[in-house]
Amino acid sequence: MPRKLQVQAKARHERKQPGPPHLVIRQSRIDSEGCYTTEPIKSGSFVVEYTGPHLTIKQADALYDKHPETYLFGLTNGKHVIDGQGVAAFINHSCDPNCEVEEVKGRVLISAIRDIAAGEELTYDYNLYDGDLDDFALCSCGAENCRGSMYSEAELKRRTRLLRRKEKEKEKQLRPTG
Ligand SMILES: [Zn+2]
Repeated sequence: MPRKLQVQAKARHERKQPGPPHLVIRQSRIDSEGCYTTEPIKSGSFVVEYTGPHLTIKQADALYDKHPETYLFGLTNGKHVIDGQGVAAFINHSCDPNCEVEEVKGRVLISAIRDIAAGEELTYDYNLYDGDLDDFALCSCGAENCRGSMYSEAELKRRTRLLRRKEKEKEKQLRPTG
C-alpha cells in the first residue's frame, strides 16, 4: 500500500496546478486548506492522480531536510517519492476517509471508496511512516474512529516499541551499579 512520508515543503500556492475542474482548494476544518468536489462522485470511480516530479529519497532529503512539511508521497519501491504539485497534494488525511490511494506502475491514483456528495471535502488515510519519535503527527480529522494520529497502525506499533526500548535504556542508565 502506498503511504505518505511524514515530511512536507514550498509555499502552497506553488502547488496549485490546475486539476479536474470540479476539484477546488478551499479552507478546511481539518487543516488550513483542503480539496473539495463541486460535483458528486460515485463510489469506485477515479478521482485524481497524485502528480509531480518523481524524486529519489536522496534527492528529496537534500531538498526538504529542514522543512517541517512537505508533499512527498512515498512509492512502494522504497526508493522514490512523488513531490506533489497538483490538487491531489491538498487532499487531507482522515481516519474515516472517502477516498483511497492505489499505486499502479509508479503512478498514484486516488479513487472514491464511497459516494461523495457535491461540496464534500476529499480525504484519504495517509498511513504515515518513518516519523521522528518526537513528531506525533496528531490527527484532527474529527472522525468517530479517529486513531489520534496520521501514522499507520503498523507505524504506531513500531513507535510504541521504540519508545519502550528507549525508556528501558534510560532506566538502565539510572540504576546504580555495584
Ligand atoms: Zn483521525
